[in-house]
Amino acid sequence: MRYISTRDARAAPLRLSFAEALLAGLARDGGLYVPESIPELDAASLRSYVGSAYPEVAARILSMFAGESFAPAELHALATAAYARFRHAAVAPLVQLDEKLWLLELFHGPTLAFKDLALQLLGLLFDAVLARRHERITIVGATSGDTGSAAIEACRDREAVDVFILYPRGRVSEVQRRQMTTVEAANVHAIAIDGTFDDCQDLVKGLFADAEFRGELNLSAVNSINWARIAAQTVYYVTAAVALGVPARPVSFSVPTGNFGNVYAGHIARRAGVSIDRLVIGTNRNDILARYFATGRMSLGTVRPTLSPSMDIQVSSNFERLLFELKGRNGAAVGQAMGRFRHTGSLPEDGQAWRRACRLFSAYKVDDTRTMQTIARIYSGSGVLIDPHTAVAVAAAQSEFAEHDSNIPMIALGCAHPAKFPEAVERATGIRPALPAQLGDLLDRRERIIALPNELGAVRRYILAHARRVGVAA
Ligand SMILES: *Cc1c(COP(=O)(O)O)cnc(C)c1O
Repeated sequence: MRYISTRDARAAPLRLSFAEALLAGLARDGGLYVPESIPELDAASLRSYVGSAYPEVAARILSMFAGESFAPAELHALATAAYARFRHAAVAPLVQLDEKLWLLELFHGPTLAFKDLALQLLGLLFDAVLARRHERITIVGATSGDTGSAAIEACRDREAVDVFILYPRGRVSEVQRRQMTTVEAANVHAIAIDGTFDDCQDLVKGLFADAEFRGELNLSAVNSINWARIAAQTVYYVTAAVALGVPARPVSFSVPTGNFGNVYAGHIARRAGVSIDRLVIGTNRNDILARYFATGRMSLGTVRPTLSPSMDIQVSSNFERLLFELKGRNGAAVGQAMGRFRHTGSLPEDGQAWRRACRLFSAYKVDDTRTMQTIARIYSGSGVLIDPHTAVAVAAAQSEFAEHDSNIPMIALGCAHPAKFPEAVERATGIRPALPAQLGDLLDRRERIIALPNELGAVRRYILAHARRVGVAA
């Protein structure tokens, strides 16, 4: 299996192995890596997953994507280690909410959000590849909350990795901040920036744009532009679908969406042969995707804060991967369209691509009022507490049933633990959700606060001074 960039316009595009795409993250031409072809899961393999442990299925799915970079036995060992840290033996259990609606709980990992399902494995994949190549990397990322803590937990104490995460000071929740600042590991640095999330993101882009710095520190990224994250996320679509009857009968999924990474992984599972009927996208007030599916026009608005901050995003980076497919895998056309988007804030309209997209996805916008009502209604109907992101998925699922009634079971993705957003949950239900026992003392742990001004030079100097030795090891 080889990987190509969505913007490679050459007749013979550059073809990377899975390991190379893992380390590179983003392609040099600004595109995202996608597999040359989607591997196929036939009915017999799907049936063989019934009753298999999660790490077993993860190893077999990852093997299809990473075949030449990792042997099956190595993947099995890495997946077993990655998911051993989860608090639920099933890793990603299903809970029934009503006759047709199920909740897939993706928040039993160390940082209480679905990001752990991919990043716990990615940390180990990075270490394995780097050890083999005698290299080190420096991961630099910006976070609005969940990605930062998940990346830190995944990379803490890893020999060949240093991780620097920039977060906007005073703009992440206390639980989110403490999950980053209380980690005691020599290779982990959570840095509070005097600015917004967009400022943090700009600083990271500035660091990547500095070729000398990028090369000297061997910079890499762990946000969902990294294909390995998509590959790891297809696994829970497969396990949940099989648990509810695939391949004998189809299922649908509803997914709270920001960067389009999670729901795109569902699309890849469907392309691989999992019988998925609808993929429903739920957005909050930051509804660029819902507007695209309604009108065919994708144009930037300004980011507004909501109860579901991990979806307070305007640019859904992973949409470029879908666009590549919708435009007949034409790298030149994608490069041009994305260039226009960067300069004008609007994607050139393409009616044919849009009609194809609408056959693949439904999309609904859910505002904060409806989010709160949904948290309250699910609690009174089933006794289950859900977080505001999950509530967006549940409400979108209900909108889909209202538009197209169906007896196909719908699985809403539970993307964060309710205790990660306790204020909203308490306001909606009167119940303050408790942190799981392993994190019970989070609010008492000692914090290490590093604060820097919103200045590229200051961040650059801090990283140079604190990265353990860099470049190619002896
Ligand atoms: C990251 C995140 C999302 C958005 O996922 P995308 O892959 O960016 O679409 C939704 N909910 C929660 C809780 C998250 O942490």
